[in-house]
Amino acid sequence: MKISRSILLFGLAIAATTCGAQPDFARHAAPVAPAPADPAIAQALKAIQPAHIHQTIETLVGFGTRSTLSSMETDLPSGQGINGTADWIAGQFEAISRDCGGCLEVRRDVFTADPASSARWGNRIPRPTKITNVYAILRGTDPAQAKRMVLVTGHYDSRNLNILDDHGAAPGANDDASGVAVSLECARALGKLHFPSTIVFAAVAGEEQGLIGSAHLAKLAHDEGWQLEAVLNNDIVGGNTTPGDSLQMKDRVRVFSEGVPAGATPQQLRRIFMLGGENDSPSREVARAIADTARTYFAASGPAAFHAFLVSRPDRYLRGGDHSSFNREGFAAVRFTEWREDYNHQHQNIVRPPAGSGKPVLGDLLEFVDFNYVAQVARLNAATLATLADSPGEPADVKIVTEDLDNNTKLTWDPPAGAPDAGYEVVWRMTTSPDWQYVKEVRPSKGAPVSVTLPISKDNVIFGVRTVDAAGHRGLVVVP
Ligand SMILES: [Zn+2]
Repeated sequence: MKISRSILLFGLAIAATTCGAQPDFARHAAPVAPAPADPAIAQALKAIQPAHIHQTIETLVGFGTRSTLSSMETDLPSGQGINGTADWIAGQFEAISRDCGGCLEVRRDVFTADPASSARWGNRIPRPTKITNVYAILRGTDPAQAKRMVLVTGHYDSRNLNILDDHGAAPGANDDASGVAVSLECARALGKLHFPSTIVFAAVAGEEQGLIGSAHLAKLAHDEGWQLEAVLNNDIVGGNTTPGDSLQMKDRVRVFSEGVPAGATPQQLRRIFMLGGENDSPSREVARAIADTARTYFAASGPAAFHAFLVSRPDRYLRGGDHSSFNREGFAAVRFTEWREDYNHQHQNIVRPPAGSGKPVLGDLLEFVDFNYVAQVARLNAATLATLADSPGEPADVKIVTEDLDNNTKLTWDPPAGAPDAGYEVVWRMTTSPDWQYVKEVRPSKGAPVSVTLPISKDNVIFGVRTVDAAGHRGLVVVP
């Protein structure tokens, strides 16, 4: 009896489909398609070369240890330790800047982490410790938009098995010299271009000690009123080349993002839960923008194929990263990590078992980094930063008007500050769909508040609005 009823319902479903009846949300729209590539961005991505990345990571490994605690040691051999590393990274940004006519402002955020001031660090900071974040600013050229910012970061500190070891070798080739190489390559690739809004390239310390450097930089960004629209954190993007690992994948990078903002107030949380907004935090929209950018600048198949594999959780199981520091300050931030981590090459002391012993080599060593893979990750970061920095920004005060109790959807918003010429795309998707499915372009009269009514029920889909300029640069989606 039960079976025959299922068959009957299935038959009806097929009948409905073959009648050609389309739901309202699919009738009035085009499917979302990749944006056109910007030739200047595509050209800039070619400047990102695996050989450069190799040099960067090899140099970082050459500092022996980049333990955050080594900043207080005076008996390290010359050229070893984290203070020299910070100087070297600042020097790299300065060299890149010289090469682009002084395009970068190179800054240091130096402070002392005192264990008396935070219980959160546990016993990872045994004594007051100097921490240095290094960052470089590529200032936007449009005075009305230069306050808008996007930021890319990686952590340059490293560790071995013992978090308190400030002398022993801690090469940190993958974790996270690879992420620092991404920041440097993005600066090298994008420094020669001009963007209306601002891009920040960062390398932070204190990650292994409890995200201390990024927490300080995120607070600085908050206190100085940075209008940070997106933070891209690259941590462990080396594409592990462990011999015999047949499950590693080089055509994708994972992008982790929080679903419910860490900084949401109780009132905001109530609204998120009431409207089913758990999958639409600003961080999640950054993740979707990265996936969108990959579809524009990378092949979908073949040897050069590359895409963002979105993971709808803040980070790996019970693990954390510097993006969460920015999330806590209320910024949209995501984490890039390679497809499959090899824990023999993370946070380990170097051990080389005798040949033929069958035991694995331990240690986060240069030989396990795939520089081609890091270059792909860097290109995706650079393309995303450039696209967002070129876009007109985020529409303001996006709302769904619910006063008329009907089956239409009325959306209203204001143009972003400083970009009265912006065009828009209203996008929507089924509530069960992970990414935007349908789009309708809106070209309103210049600078005026916008109001759009679509004959689509707001109850059945999720709507968002993003800006797009004449060249096709898309901003981040804002959900009403
Ligand atoms: Zn890390």
